[in-house]
Amino acid sequence: MDEVLIVGASVGGATAAETLARAGVPVIMLERDLSYIKPCGGAVPPVAFDEFDIPQAMISRKVHRTLVHSPSERVTEVEVAGLEASENDYVAMVCREDFDDYLRQRAVQSGAELIEGQFLDMQVDAHGVTVHYRERTTQTRQTLRVAAVIGADGAYSPTAKALGLPNLPRCIAIQERIRLPEDKMARWEDSADLYLGTEVSPDLYAWAFPKKDHIAVGIGAGPKHTKAARQLLENLKQRIAPDLVGGDIFMREAHALPMHPRRHMSFDRTMLIGDAAGLVVGTSGEGIYWAMKSGKMAAEVLAENISNPVQQALRHYDRQWWRQYGTMYRFLRGLQVWGYGNTRQKEVFTDMCRNLDVQRLTFESYMHKNMTPVPWLVQMRMTGDILAAQVRHYAPQMRRRVANATRNA
Ligand SMILES: Cc1cc2nc3c(=O)[nH]c(=O)nc-3n(C[C@H](O)[C@H](O)[C@H](O)COP(=O)(O)OP(=O)(O)OC[C@H]3O[C@@H](n4cnc5c(N)ncnc54)[C@H](O)[C@@H]3O)c2cc1C
Repeated sequence: MDEVLIVGASVGGATAAETLARAGVPVIMLERDLSYIKPCGGAVPPVAFDEFDIPQAMISRKVHRTLVHSPSERVTEVEVAGLEASENDYVAMVCREDFDDYLRQRAVQSGAELIEGQFLDMQVDAHGVTVHYRERTTQTRQTLRVAAVIGADGAYSPTAKALGLPNLPRCIAIQERIRLPEDKMARWEDSADLYLGTEVSPDLYAWAFPKKDHIAVGIGAGPKHTKAARQLLENLKQRIAPDLVGGDIFMREAHALPMHPRRHMSFDRTMLIGDAAGLVVGTSGEGIYWAMKSGKMAAEVLAENISNPVQQALRHYDRQWWRQYGTMYRFLRGLQVWGYGNTRQKEVFTDMCRNLDVQRLTFESYMHKNMTPVPWLVQMRMTGDILAAQVRHYAPQMRRRVANATRNA
């Protein structure tokens, strides 16, 4: 018995299934609901299309600039361009209903089996894993015996729960998809907009991302603000009301996002990938590429160790992952805490986005998924600019404090 069960057949699960099937390992994907559409902005870096050999036809729209709106509505235009100009200088917008289905079908064509059913629980022993699930059409409880399980079941991960792992801290993201009249849609032709401000997103950001024939408008809210999420989205729509005139809301979506990664992602006969492992990066909330990448990496390690998938062997996946991406995760998490901390800091963040060095480095890491070493001259230039922005935005507050202190003395 060397069969693998993957719980969840979204971007991460489908990529892991295809990788295992191509390596000759028998694999089953278990998906709770095949008609489910994952709530998602759908922004994907071009590197994902090259690396995972995805046809350009999956791209609903290519965006070449980002507009960052500060709390006081100062707008910074950021061109999507890396250190060297390339035809890959864009952000791809995808519709998850098409994108996920494509990856899932490709896994099936590679040899993976697909079952529609809900994972219930599992018991791991020295020789395999016994899994119980509820088959969707018959609503009957079924049992499977497999060699190993990959949990690709998202932010609420029932697989992680079955392993006795704690819930990850989560933020909530909600969005509406809005169909606009043609003249209004032209406004979003080539730009993805980010909005900063306490009234739209106290600790993260809000967005308007264009698709082929509509836009997705949404907000992110950290654990302390999840109850206010609906109101925050209403505030965003108020803020950009002139750009939405005549719009028709045809879908409302909400889902959780993990706030930081799990300490360990591999155990005896079980592995976690994507959102189940908490692999969403801070600052941007990007998780599609990371779910696919972790799915591929975990599946490769599992395929090599399928005859004896013990924790010690599978932890190679964790080590490889953190060696390659640890610095980036820590940096982006730090940037999130620093940049979205309070209203003044969000103004500083908007100014920082204006710096050309910052723009190029940000897109370089987004598009190529590596942290380029920064020459010291560039580091000095960026530091100088950031300090100047800090002084600009904090000076009035400091002056007021000094005046008050002098008056009270
Ligand atoms: C509103 C919003 C906007 C976002 N925007 C972006 C963006 O623009 N770009 C980006 O890169 N990322 C974005 N993300 C993050 C991105 O959606 C996730 O990181 C990504 O989908 C994670 O993929 P995954 O395969 O790990 O899990 P998911 O896509 O969450 O899939 C989990 C799968 O598991 C299945 N499942 C769950 N429980 C069970 C069970 N008991 N039995 C069987 N199956 C089960 C679910 O049905 C689902 O299909 C956004 C997220 C949200 C919520």
